[in-house]
Amino acid sequence: MRGTSPCASCKLLRRRCAKGCIFAPYFPSDDPQKFAIVHKVFGASNVSKMLQELPIHQRADAVSSLVYEANARVRDPVYGCVGAISYLENQVSQLQMQLAVAQAEILCIQMQQEAATPTPLDQDDKSLILSSSNFNINSPHPQYLINFAASSTNLIQDPLKRESL
Ligand SMILES: [Zn+2]
Repeated sequence: MRGTSPCASCKLLRRRCAKGCIFAPYFPSDDPQKFAIVHKVFGASNVSKMLQELPIHQRADAVSSLVYEANARVRDPVYGCVGAISYLENQVSQLQMQLAVAQAEILCIQMQQEAATPTPLDQDDKSLILSSSNFNINSPHPQYLINFAASSTNLIQDPLKRESL
């Protein structure tokens, strides 16, 4: 089959797609744009060298990232995929700030609720207040939050953990 239909790379480079062509598994003829963009940014011979230096089981991933990087470079000639990375890093730090603000608000609300709980009482009720403040500071409420957060990300889990310690 390969003899009759060259891979996208060989087609673009106008050469015979030999058996064992290094590009053939990753650049099928039905997706010519994929190789065209990688060739434009990195050059076919560089891509070929890069693939040759990698074990076969890593080549598909390398091609994916090369295609991604090449597309990013064409979209953004100045920053390429670094533009996307720093945009996402910015977002992460903004979200971390929002998270810290939200956690501070939760603490404030908890403290206000504690301050608002019913007041001058006899022994029994005092112990009740003690246990209800335990409830707010230690368990099980924050534990519930930690468990809930653990199911999403470490980002959320860590600050809460520190808080409860
Ligand atoms: Zn080929």
